Amino acid sequence: MREQQILPVAVLCLVAALVAVVAGWTMDRMDRPGTTPTEAGAPIEAIEWKLVTTWPKGLPGLGAAPENFARRVNETSGGRLRIKVFGAGEIVPAFEVFDAVSRGVAQAGHGAAYYWKGKIPAAVFYTAVPFGMTAQEANGWLHYGGGLELWRELYAPFGVVPFAGGSTGVQMAGWFNIRLNSREDLEGLKMRIPGLAGEVFDAAGGSAVRIAGGEVYTSMQTGVIDAVEWVGPYNDRTLGLMEVGDYYYYPGWHEPGAMLETIVNAEALAALPADLQAIVRVAARATNSDMLDDFTAHNSEALQILLSDFDTEVLPLPDDVMDALYEKSQIAIQALVEADPMAKKIAASYFSFAEQVRAYHEVSERAYLNGRDRLLPPISLTGE
Ligand code: CA
Repeated sequence: MREQQILPVAVLCLVAALVAVVAGWTMDRMDRPGTTPTEAGAPIEAIEWKLVTTWPKGLPGLGAAPENFARRVNETSGGRLRIKVFGAGEIVPAFEVFDAVSRGVAQAGHGAAYYWKGKIPAAVFYTAVPFGMTAQEANGWLHYGGGLELWRELYAPFGVVPFAGGSTGVQMAGWFNIRLNSREDLEGLKMRIPGLAGEVFDAAGGSAVRIAGGEVYTSMQTGVIDAVEWVGPYNDRTLGLMEVGDYYYYPGWHEPGAMLETIVNAEALAALPADLQAIVRVAARATNSDMLDDFTAHNSEALQILLSDFDTEVLPLPDDVMDALYEKSQIAIQALVEADPMAKKIAASYFSFAEQVRAYHEVSERAYLNGRDRLLPPISLTGE
């Protein structure tokens, strides 16, 4: 008899619990900012994210990467996760992107890790190490050599999850308004050059200045700086640097495979359903790979235009200057590693991988390029 009395009560409790769950689910849905109609016409849940960048809005190359990331996520999620991209200064200034994502002002960001070295000294390993790895090598380290796991550990205290966000490939050494003959010519030179390389440049007698992309043209034009490194032919031409710099030096000793980052607020990412999290990961990986392709194609095209249409004087850095920069780089890296435990941990992984891949590239990339160049006609850097 007792069981007969308990059963209706149990059913009532079950129904009440079900109502509570459905009500909670409905309330949750009401918090979400929008809906997207499906093909069948029924609205589906749409989550909206803001993505802030360190780049001027509309900048090709660097600025195209976050736009591509957002488009890929929007398309592959069928509009369930919609990301809107904001250029530097639209919500936060360029150098506040990391804090904005950390605080949840924006759910995602795109920029360069070395901009945060004041807060996170070891972040420089995730953009560029002077005389370090190329893009191909760094991507191997990140995705198959433990580099990304250490990056996640580095950003975890800030509630930020990093993804490789593209690479420019080897950059140019930059635009100089004096001709460089020896290391003495670096004395007193004011140059826009960020990251660890800025410290190296200071140690070599120069004076490094930290300026965001949107201001480098005017700074060169008005003589605030004597030299500027930005990226390479593709992005430098976009900023018009050939109009304000006399000599275009190579190679980018300071950014041999400059990596960018796509960063996501950890709580915002964890709040997504598993399939949308996967979409974010895959879109980030595709964007990383796509940027290198974009730069490879457009850097080579832009170099020809600089040579033929602007008579840009393209020069190699003299050995004496390269030697000085290498010596100071070793000192700067050593000081960083000694001062910061995470830098020490990451450096051990980075340089171990770098040494191993250098040996492999001796018999693959370098051997092939040397072999090819011995047989093909010489390359002209005069536009003729
Ligand atoms: Ca650069």
